[in-house]
Amino acid sequence: MGVVGDKLKNPNAYKRVVIKIGSALLVDAQTGLRKEWLNNLCDDISQLTQNGVEVLIVSSGAIAMGRKILNLPKGTLKLEQSQAAASVGQIELGRAYNEGLQTYDLSAGQILLTLSDTETRRRYLNARATINALLEWKAIPIINENDSVATSEIRYGDNDRLAARVATMVSADLLILLSDIDGLYTAPPHFDPNAELIEEVPEITSDIEAMAGAAASELSRGGMVTKIEAGKIATEGGTAMIITSGKEAHPIKRLINGANATWFAPSNNPVTARKRWIAGHLNTGGQIIVDEGAENALMLGKSLLFAGLTRIEGQFKRGDTVKILSHNNRLLGHGIIAYDAADAQKLIGHNSNEIIDILGYKGRNEVIHRDDMVLTVE
Ligand code: GLU
Repeated sequence: MGVVGDKLKNPNAYKRVVIKIGSALLVDAQTGLRKEWLNNLCDDISQLTQNGVEVLIVSSGAIAMGRKILNLPKGTLKLEQSQAAASVGQIELGRAYNEGLQTYDLSAGQILLTLSDTETRRRYLNARATINALLEWKAIPIINENDSVATSEIRYGDNDRLAARVATMVSADLLILLSDIDGLYTAPPHFDPNAELIEEVPEITSDIEAMAGAAASELSRGGMVTKIEAGKIATEGGTAMIITSGKEAHPIKRLINGANATWFAPSNNPVTARKRWIAGHLNTGGQIIVDEGAENALMLGKSLLFAGLTRIEGQFKRGDTVKILSHNNRLLGHGIIAYDAADAQKLIGHNSNEIIDILGYKGRNEVIHRDDMVLTVE
């Protein structure tokens, strides 16, 4: 074991964990759903949740499952055929997870995402809120790309990167990619007897990328290259990532017991990374002005509430980035606003518990949540 130690490869040491499951682990081309494997995985998940870990699943397998159910011949499918196969497969996947998790008294919630759900701020906020609500209710989100409607130009195509976006979206602290290979090797292990497993990747350098290019995994759609792409998305967003094998039963338990794995360190300063990320997505169409009390609260790291809001200027929609100004017009920072300008206008100076009466729906208490805010004055 290297300098990092076993602890960081133990999912129990994390609060919120995304587990990505590849098609080949879940669906056997000959026999279909690997029911026992899935049941054992649900057992692992149940153990994690009992230890207070929040778990999200990003599962592939819709197309593979659809192929099996429809008895489709081997070979490449046309786009509309794989989309149709995914629709057949996804409904079965959902059923299988639901049944598997129910055995352990857990509920499943299915979320099918397209690229624009994670790349457009407004939709991103929506998806994130839904997933967070599921987690609050202790239900397990089962997430996949919405293959049946996502066309080739606007799709992820691989669930490695989708899982990484989901992980950063929900501020997960760990992403586990269950793969057909037990980690990143210095060379393709099937061909090179001198290939060594890399246990820890403190930073994804060009050397690491080159190794990934050479060391493709056997079956998964994305191969090692998309896993490293996923690693970049995850670690830059402050999420650690682990690649380990999911081939055997109880892959999470095995990981906890020290199975081979590659651990990718999250960015040294994830808060700064996230702040840089928000600052990099500026859309300064609108601005909001806060009173002195709110200004002080922001400096203490609090979220912005409507009670401290005195004026809004310009046009913006929920999910846009706006400028935050002090009462004397000083730029305090930027943040992603949770309300459209018209709704925000109605709520100026009001308490959070009045939101429902004024708007007719219960929106977020915060105008801008502190996680969605970058202050320029500290
Ligand atoms: N979303 C695809 C499916 O469920 C899988 C994508 C991937 O293999 O990464 O079939």
